[in-house]
Amino acid sequence: MDHRTPAGETTAAEAADVWRRAREHLDGLPGGRGLNIAHEAVDRHVAAGRGARVALRCVAADRTATSVTYAELADRSNRFAGVLRSLGVGRGDRVASLLGRGPELYTAVLGTLKNASVFCPLFPAFGPAPVEERLRLGDVRVLVTSGDLYRRKVAGRRDALPGLEHVLLVGPGADPDSGTVSFDDLTAAASGEFTIPPTDPGEPALLHFTSGTTGTPKGAVHAHEAVVAHHATAALALDLRPGDVFWCTADPGWVTGMSYGIIAPLTHGLTAVVDSGEYEARRWYGILAQERVNVWYTAPTAIRMLMRVSPRGRPPELPRSFDLSALRFVASVGEPLNPEAVRWGQEVLGLPIHDNWWQTETGAIMIANTAATEIRPGSMGRPLPGVRAGVLERGPDGRADVTDGRVHVLEQAGAEGELALRPGWPSMFRGYLGAEARYRACFADGWYLTGDVVRRDADGYYWFVGRADDVIKSAGHLIGPFEVESTLMEHTAVAEAGVIGRPDPVAGEIVKAFVSLKPGYRPGPQVARDITAFARRRLGPAIAPREIAFEQNLPKTRSGKVMRRLLRARELGLPEGDLSTLESPS
Ligand code: ATP
Ligand code: MG
Repeated sequence: MDHRTPAGETTAAEAADVWRRAREHLDGLPGGRGLNIAHEAVDRHVAAGRGARVALRCVAADRTATSVTYAELADRSNRFAGVLRSLGVGRGDRVASLLGRGPELYTAVLGTLKNASVFCPLFPAFGPAPVEERLRLGDVRVLVTSGDLYRRKVAGRRDALPGLEHVLLVGPGADPDSGTVSFDDLTAAASGEFTIPPTDPGEPALLHFTSGTTGTPKGAVHAHEAVVAHHATAALALDLRPGDVFWCTADPGWVTGMSYGIIAPLTHGLTAVVDSGEYEARRWYGILAQERVNVWYTAPTAIRMLMRVSPRGRPPELPRSFDLSALRFVASVGEPLNPEAVRWGQEVLGLPIHDNWWQTETGAIMIANTAATEIRPGSMGRPLPGVRAGVLERGPDGRADVTDGRVHVLEQAGAEGELALRPGWPSMFRGYLGAEARYRACFADGWYLTGDVVRRDADGYYWFVGRADDVIKSAGHLIGPFEVESTLMEHTAVAEAGVIGRPDPVAGEIVKAFVSLKPGYRPGPQVARDITAFARRRLGPAIAPREIAFEQNLPKTRSGKVMRRLLRARELGLPEGDLSTLESPS
């Protein structure tokens, strides 16, 4: 019998059919030799006569841009694949990067995939300890980096990394006596011809470390087959169309920057903007204008930063001074997108912002507000075709209740519980490297458990409530920090907020908010009272924060997420835990 669970859930057969059809949009390796991400991203375009198209627009610090065509990218990645082969680096071996955003990073990723080795991008702003930890956990054999980053972050710890056999330096500084060789010399000397070896779709391709928002980062392994989901979801959730210029602002050190900064725009044969610089409002508007960006994929933290500069209700002088007329679609991921931000986009950019949800583990967008559907501000949207999502009843520990191996799927409208997905989508992670038990613990009763708490409305839209670990229990209420934070952000003085539960003998926990203020506002008791009164009116006294603290620099991960666990640990004087992904440790 066809057993449909929650509203709108597709059957396993329907989902399999969606992915089978999605696979038909890709070519596969010539001669039926399997599926390789790099072939889909580059070589197939060249083979089809599209080699002269611009694949990358690389924007330098001074905002001048250079183009790299698909043919050039094919040639360079062939050379790098040949370099790896000549070094004896082979199938399944790990190659990591610690590089700024530029063409060499693309060469390294695509060349590694062509060689059937596994690519592990590291965020270049990591300090020496997190770099070392990931190189060790990933059992990395080859590192591609720059002379400067190598000296500052790796050289002093090289002895502790016996598995790291080859260090290739982009730019000057290579010195064989100190164990480094020149990336540029090796690739220049290599052949521009390379035949990708047969690649099984299930073979490992990528190793991605999670953001470390809730604890120690985990290394999630993804297979070549993930490209089916990257390609399909980019069209559905990001509205990518032929000829588009696409800018994903995430660094490839995070999964978003890989799946949608590198792979998806290339499999679609589009032009990807690659900015070597950092967030800065004027720079960003400048890039959107000069590169005539059509589709822009960014993060709530960046949008909140732009909102600080040009708040609603004032003439948006800065964005108006740039020609943003090419921009057609804006999307965001990584954290909840507050309804205020959606409205800001509409008012200031003239475009709404489409929130979507996914994780390192899911490899691709799973739930989204799409171009084809109505946006509900504050909601992360609905599951994409082929994605089977459910809401599971939670137990006392806040996670899905698993009793005798069974979970309870909540079907009613408004149900709130742990978000779970039915395995079977192509970009699902295949394991946490070196942590088999932790991987197995993510599954129960035929579901993958995401660790996020959501509410699903009558029309199948999902609303983020919080991380299962972050949800606050106060006087019998379960309070999602996101709802409180979003309300606080509607106050005219508040730029950003992070909300935690502080233990309380009477209520169990009380809600405490840490807020940063917009330019022109000063912290003080009057503002605090004003914000508290505002929150009470909107949320009611049971949910509104009982305490407000001012924190101009909320602790964030390097991928820009508010670290509530750190706010809480500091508040309670508890150990701070793993800080390797903290933005600027203080
Ligand atoms: P760690 O797993 O190490 O604690 P992390 O979960 O932040 O870190 P990522 O895989 O980068 O690592 O982030 C995925 C998480 O980000 C999701 O599980 C969810 O909690 C949050 N997230 C992503 N997109 C959204 C969104 N649109 N709305 C709300 N939360 C989101
Ligand atoms: Mg996570």
